[in-house]
This record gives sequence, C-alpha cells and structure tokens, in this order.
Amino acid sequence: MRRWPVRRSKGTLSRKRFSRAGPRLGAHMSIAGGVDKALLRGHQIGCDTIQIFTKNNNQWRAKPLTVREIKTYHQHRATTGIWPVVAHNGYLINVASPQRALYKKSLEAFLVEVRRAAALEIPYLIMHPGAHVGAGEADGIKRVVNALDVVLDRTKGFPVVICLETTAGQGSSLGYRFEHLAAIREGVAQRERVGVCVDTCHIFAAGYEIRGRKAYEQTMRHFDDVIGLKHVKCIHLNDSQRELGSRVDRHAHIGQGHIGLEGFRPCLNDPRFRHIPMILETPKGEDPAAADRRNLGVLRSLVRR
Ligand code: MN
Ligand code: MN
Ligand code: ZN
Repeated sequence: MRRWPVRRSKGTLSRKRFSRAGPRLGAHMSIAGGVDKALLRGHQIGCDTIQIFTKNNNQWRAKPLTVREIKTYHQHRATTGIWPVVAHNGYLINVASPQRALYKKSLEAFLVEVRRAAALEIPYLIMHPGAHVGAGEADGIKRVVNALDVVLDRTKGFPVVICLETTAGQGSSLGYRFEHLAAIREGVAQRERVGVCVDTCHIFAAGYEIRGRKAYEQTMRHFDDVIGLKHVKCIHLNDSQRELGSRVDRHAHIGQGHIGLEGFRPCLNDPRFRHIPMILETPKGEDPAAADRRNLGVLRSLVRR
C-alpha cells in the first residue's frame, strides 16, 4: 500500500500528532487569503488532514499560483504537520456533459486542477463523475472515461491520484451506484492513478445503509466486490439531512442527521481506514472554526481507544 512518501514534517507538534492512535481526521478549509492559509486554519482547530479547493470553486478562471504562494504553502505544510492535503475539483467541471463546449471547457479546467495539485504536492484530487443531462448513464460514463484518459495522458508521471467521489444521485448525476465508479475506473488506461472518495452522506442518500455494524459491513463488502476497498483514498464524513435513499445531497452536522452518531462509529473504527484521510464537509455557519471543532470533537469521541 502506498503511504505518504514526501515531506513528512520533523516538527515536534506533528510528531505528537502522528503517534496518536485513531483515524486521520480533518475538515474542508477555506483558502481565502491564499492556499497556505488553509493549513493554518486547519492547524488551529486540530486537523490531522484537510481538504481544499486550489482555486475559486465557482469560477472557470484561476490566477496562477505564484512561486511565493507555493513556497509559503510548503513551509506551512511542514510546520503544521498536516498530511495529506487533498484537493477537490471546482464545481463547474462536468466531463460527463454531452455538450461539446462544456465538455471541452471542463477538460481544460480539470487539467489546470491536476497541475495545481501537483505544484502543491497534493496526492489526491477529488472529482465528481458529473451529470449526463439526459444523454444516459452509459453515455456519461464513456465521456468521463475519455476525459480521464486525456487528462492522465497529458499529466503523465504527475504524482496525483484522481479520486472519483460517490454521489447522492441528484438529477442526472453519475456516481450514486458503486457500479458507475467501477465502470469508469476500469475503463481508464492509467487506472492506477484513479482512486475513490467515499462520502457518507452521499452513499446513504443513494440508498446504501451504513447505520449499525452489520449494515455497515454489508455495504463495505458490496463496495469491495464492486470497486475494491483498496481503491478508497479519502472519506468524507457528513451526516445527512435527508433519509436513506432520498437521492438528495444535504449535509448535516455529525449526529444531527439521519445517519446519527451510531452510524459513524463503525467507519471511524474500521482498521482498513486507519490511514485514510477522513474529512468533514459539514455546514460552517456563522463561526466556521467553532462548527468544525465541534464536529471533530464528536468524531473523536466515537473513536475507541
Ligand atoms: Mn464533492
Ligand atoms: Mn463530499
Ligand atoms: Zn454533498
């Protein structure tokens, strides 16, 4: 299994963190003021790992990362000991789109995302498979495979693994069945550079039961049969405002949704995910740091010591 190969911090703070038992927990952090600021924000609230957008997630354009920004980022990465940092693609990207113009634009933007992740030595870039907007699931999957082939070919040798995220299945979104992700991954030539990100809210909304040890194990066994658990590189921990199988993507604070506290215990204590980054994408509210701290505290209270 591939571990974290680069730039492990030698700082005392981080050494303490690395030796702590239990999963690597963190949250999605804002990059307001620069990508390096996300690390400081994460460190302040006790994240072992964080997720960021490397650019504005609602715009196509991005001004290039400056040498200085990249340097400061690496310094903060080392001093905070936060590892890994994972990146998430911008929301406008849809490489399942049957519209030629949007597909091409998405492909270009996706390439920029991979290059930015590489510049920041980010090992995992999370993507949504996308929406087929009426063209059909098989058609959508074919386009995603094609896009991944192009992107991976044009970034040959880059140490960035693209992670397909499971989705709730809103509208014509792909990725709400494990089979979709398996078909995409298996269709790609450089599939060793394609992993998976499991989002608890999304799989639950898609109809996969995870509440209770038995149901959780059953869902994981199914995942293992269809995709392979070894391809899980990241986990998003979100409770769900909506019920099992609702196909609606609404995140809730941990323990305050339909998954509930007990629904998170099996995953948090799963030895197979011991070294997998687990990231909150729960509502931030008025005071993001306080909200994230609270949710992290709840998660840590569920970890068996
Ligand atoms: Mn996502
Ligand atoms: Mn997610
Ligand atoms: Zn979501």
